[in-house]
Amino acid sequence: MMKLSLRNRIALFTAIAAAVTIGLVFLAVYGVVFKTAYNHLDSDIQQEKKEILSSLRWAGDSILIDAMPEWEENEHLEVEVNPTFLQVVDDDGRVLFRSSNLEEDILLYNPDLTSDRFFNSLIGKKRIRQGQFPMRNETGVIIGQLTIGISQEESAIVLHNLRNILGVSFPLLLIILFAATSIATAKGIAPVQQLIQAARNIGETDFHSRLPFPENEDELYLLATTINELLQRIDHGVQREKQFASDASHEIRTPLTAIRGTLEVLLRKPREKEYYEEKIESVIHEVDRMHGILEQLLQLARLENGSIPIKPSLLDLSAYLDDLTRQWQSRLAEKGMQFAIDIQGNGFVTTDPALLGLILENLISNAWKYGGKGGEIKLIWSEDQRVLTIHDNGPGIADEHIKKVFDRFYRTDDSRSSSIPGAGLGLSIARKLADLLGLCITVMSQEGVGSSFSLTFPVLENNRFHS
Ligand code: ADP
Repeated sequence: MMKLSLRNRIALFTAIAAAVTIGLVFLAVYGVVFKTAYNHLDSDIQQEKKEILSSLRWAGDSILIDAMPEWEENEHLEVEVNPTFLQVVDDDGRVLFRSSNLEEDILLYNPDLTSDRFFNSLIGKKRIRQGQFPMRNETGVIIGQLTIGISQEESAIVLHNLRNILGVSFPLLLIILFAATSIATAKGIAPVQQLIQAARNIGETDFHSRLPFPENEDELYLLATTINELLQRIDHGVQREKQFASDASHEIRTPLTAIRGTLEVLLRKPREKEYYEEKIESVIHEVDRMHGILEQLLQLARLENGSIPIKPSLLDLSAYLDDLTRQWQSRLAEKGMQFAIDIQGNGFVTTDPALLGLILENLISNAWKYGGKGGEIKLIWSEDQRVLTIHDNGPGIADEHIKKVFDRFYRTDDSRSSSIPGAGLGLSIARKLADLLGLCITVMSQEGVGSSFSLTFPVLENNRFHS
């Protein structure tokens, strides 16, 4: 495939379309001129025929030629300019009259012709137009054939010239058209070149720059707007990633600093055994915290690059939540808390049990972490709405925080200043997992009363995974 620039491609397509149109117009013009020329010749012949027939007479079946001398005279007069050839043949094929300009030649004719006919023929090398007319007596019987020929050199010259003019002007017109369109499109796509140049100038990491808007609010303007919006999104994405990296480093640095501080204190002077044990335990605690954060970061990274496989199966929520209760037994007992499970309806869902487990682990451990001693965690399944709600009677979340709790590294000020462990990653992981499973996760909370996190399952979940 030829490599044409957009500009030349447009010019080429226009030229091809123009070639077809001009070609058709030229053909039509030539056709009309051609037809007019022959009509003109034929009407001249008709005129001639009228004059001749008016001076012919016949007696019975034989033709009497009356005004022969005048005919000759007429022909002689016209011979130089536009000679008319005449020939009268009777029914038996005898030539009754032939104009003198015919000399040796005879006009071609069809002896059995019964109606008028026009056709092209030759005399010597001359092209002539002929009309042949059967002549009838008063009773309508054909008694001879009148043939009239006139030169068509003139029309032939006209047509020939016309052909030449059209033939030469056709390619010329196309060349002019191609050049004109090419220039016009070059002008038309100049703003595109400007956009390309501007886009090139945007550096690899410089997503702050934007493309200049073209003057007219046309498709290019729209293109520039769309690209700018895309740059904006990339810019936000990059900013988010930067923020994430800095938050992540910060979260790791804090326990590292604490560990280092503790170890330095231990090194400074010899201490009691109990003191060592206490400090080493706190170091282990910080290491565990770091380990937890790294685990969560890894989980997020895996979720974000889509490398977590989904293995859905039909799940009986009653049995599933009973299992969960057993797993949580000791932790609940630690804080004197308990589960209240309420399954309204038969409670069957199709989802990946392991991934659902991760979501519930995050939600329940929050309810457990933030809920006060002796609190209750309700797990309610509503069959009608296909919603699983995890409800706690903990401190609740203030309105100003509620929108942000699913953001990475977001913790409310209270959580931050409390001793409750966490890096603000749990809910963002839960939301990503919910997205992956096609679940909708929402939160409702009232400060001082408690929080409810809801997971809405799709109604047609069977089809979702098996289709
Ligand atoms: P964290 O590791 O801090 O718990 P999450 O992403 O799980 O991170 O939660 C984000 C923030 O939302 C928490 O720091 C806390 O302030 C608030 N939060 C989450 N769940 C609850 C809850 N059940 N009750 C009160 N506050 C909650």
